[in-house]
Order: sequence, then C-alpha cells, then structure tokens
Amino acid sequence: MSANHDRVYFFDTTLRDGEQSPGCSMNIDEKLRLAAQLTTLGVDIIEAGFAIASDGDFEAVKAVATQIQGPTIASLSRCKREDIEAAGRALAPAKRTRIHLFLSCSDLHLEYKLRISREQALEQADEAVRLAGQVVDEVEFSPEDATRTDPDFLCKVVGVAINAGAKIINIPDTVGYTVPEEYAATFRMLREKVPGADKVIFSAHCHDDLGLAVANTFAAVQAGARQVECTINGIGERAGNAALEEIAAAIMVRPDKYPYSSNIVTTELFPTSQMLGDIISFRPSPNKAIVGANAFAHEAGIHQHGVLANPLTYEIMTPASVGVSHNNIVLGKHSGRRALEHRLHQLGFKLTREELDEVYHRFTQLADKKKNIYEQDLLALIRDEAAAVTLGSEE
Ligand SMILES: [Zn+2]
Repeated sequence: MSANHDRVYFFDTTLRDGEQSPGCSMNIDEKLRLAAQLTTLGVDIIEAGFAIASDGDFEAVKAVATQIQGPTIASLSRCKREDIEAAGRALAPAKRTRIHLFLSCSDLHLEYKLRISREQALEQADEAVRLAGQVVDEVEFSPEDATRTDPDFLCKVVGVAINAGAKIINIPDTVGYTVPEEYAATFRMLREKVPGADKVIFSAHCHDDLGLAVANTFAAVQAGARQVECTINGIGERAGNAALEEIAAAIMVRPDKYPYSSNIVTTELFPTSQMLGDIISFRPSPNKAIVGANAFAHEAGIHQHGVLANPLTYEIMTPASVGVSHNNIVLGKHSGRRALEHRLHQLGFKLTREELDEVYHRFTQLADKKKNIYEQDLLALIRDEAAAVTLGSEE
C-alpha cells in the first residue's frame, strides 16, 4: 500500500480507542452499523476492537471482520502470544487483516507498568512481530508512549520491529504531550536513522490533551507519515483522539498547504458524526469544528446577509461539502429581516410585505426574551400571525 507518495491512509479507531472512553460503549449491532458507515465514508483501515480484552470485544471484531467488506480490519494486541492468537482468530473472516501490536517503550512505562528491561522489551517486540506476521496479512507496531521515549531507544525498537517484518510503524502520542515541531522531528529522525524505514508506512496517533491532536497529526504527515489514526467526533481516551472530520476537511479546504489525496468521501462526514452521536451518550459540542450544531450557523445579521449573497463571504467550505444538508442559520436578535424571510421561505412560507413586517415585529419581540430562535419558534410565530388574521376578520 505504498505506491502513491501523496496518499494519506485513514485508520479509524472509533470502535477501539473511541469506544473504550466513558459514555462511548457500543454493542455489536451498533458497532456493525457504524463500521458500515465508516466503509461508506471511505476509511482505509477499521480498528474494530481489542480482541483479547473481553468476549464482547472478541465477538465485535469477529462480526466486523465477517460482515464488513472493503477496508482492512484491525485488532489491537499486546506483544503476547495469547493476544496475537485471539486477534488472529477474530480477524480470520476478513479479506485483509492487520494486527496492531503495542509495547510500552518509555522508561517510565517499562519500569512501572511492565517491569521489564529495555533488552527484554526489544526481545518481546521481535518475537511478537514475527508471530503476528504468521497470523495476519500485515503487522503494525506501536511503541506506546513514544513521545516520552528516549530517542535512541525509540530508533532501536522501531528498527527491531521493521527487521521482524512490521509494515506500519505507528508513533503514538499516548498521553497527548507532544507539540507539532517536536512530533515532526521524531518522524524525521526515525526516517533518517532507522534501517529499512523507507520500506514502511509511518503513522500518527495523537491525543488531544493539549488541544493539539490534529495539528500534531499534520506535523507528522508533513514529516513523512502517511497513515493517520483518528476517530469520528474526536472521541477517545481522556480528551479524545484527533478528529477524523477535521483532518479530512483541512485536506479538502487547504490543498495548497496539504497536497494529499485520500479515500474519504467528505459528504459522508456529517452523516457519520450524526450516527455516532445517536449511538453513544453524547454529541459533539455545538462549537465543534465541521460537525458541531453551530459549525455553519451565522447569527450576526451582517454575516447572514453576506452568506445569503455569497457563501464565501464567511464560509471557508460549504455545508454541503461535508454533508450538512442546509445552511443551519440560527436566528437571534441580531438577525435581519432578510434572514428571517429566507428561513421562512425554506420552511415553505411566502409572505406578503405586510405579513413579513408583522412577523418580523413579533420576531424581534421574541428575540428580546429568547436567545436563539429555532424552527418551532418560527412556526409558532406564523401560526399566531395566521390566528390574528382570522380573528381580525371575524370581528
Ligand atoms: Zn490512543
């Protein structure tokens, strides 16, 4: 999968890193529904779960591997024989399979979490990659906590993994600690120093603890990474993962700075976000980029007037380009008469000038009391107006 140098591969981990975070658990049917939508969206690799973690996870990985056609299906796995064998069994029905091995590599993790030496870590990585290579089509290796790992040791362990047959090297910023310049330098270092680095695909996996996940992801891509690990709505451990929709939209909007191709169908971004929001216990915040309820909402009257005249005045992309069906203009007290007329027209009402005057008058009164005016408020205003007219004729 390395023919096109500008192609960025999207590795979606909504069903694994996303699913393991609070409020995000999904049952098998929900995972299958989302996996089918991720396929429509065009992701290249679906990490369906962590097969050894529980019976439910095993069954979910197996169900996705059985029913989803198109993307490569992956399972997370520790560098342990039982993990690798379980992942292999769960993935077996899929056409193209990948085991995603991870092994803590920072001294902090080696000493306090795994209680093994660096030498033992190198041995485990070597054995696990070789074993996994016998079980699935391709092996991805992640030195966990890579961004806090000694650079020389990081080069060593990545070299061992490549030598043992890993085809994808993921450099996870497990704790969301790195910053763009530093993360990019790590990829450059690995590509320059590690023998065989030119034969593998490097991958970014960023967490948003400092709000830098997407920026760090692009820094990695600019330094040569060609796989991005991400989730829908940015869900994931703690502050979440890099948001798939933000990466895809930035590539779409700024080809001058990010001249990369991908398989993502951007008009499926919003529908996918909505589906995830329906399944888990929360939706993205209203001001979330690309998919938040207010992402394309213009309230200030002067903005609304501009957008109606030409969307480019205040929009860097059209709502339709990311799958939002219509411009969701929220009306408020700063909205002008034109925006009201436009919205009423969208709702199917054609008012005379006098009627519009009257509705606008009521609208401004309501807007003084109520911050945001929604569709149902407008419908109520129209009904009141109709009632007033009817009453008037009876008098
Ligand atoms: Zn993660």
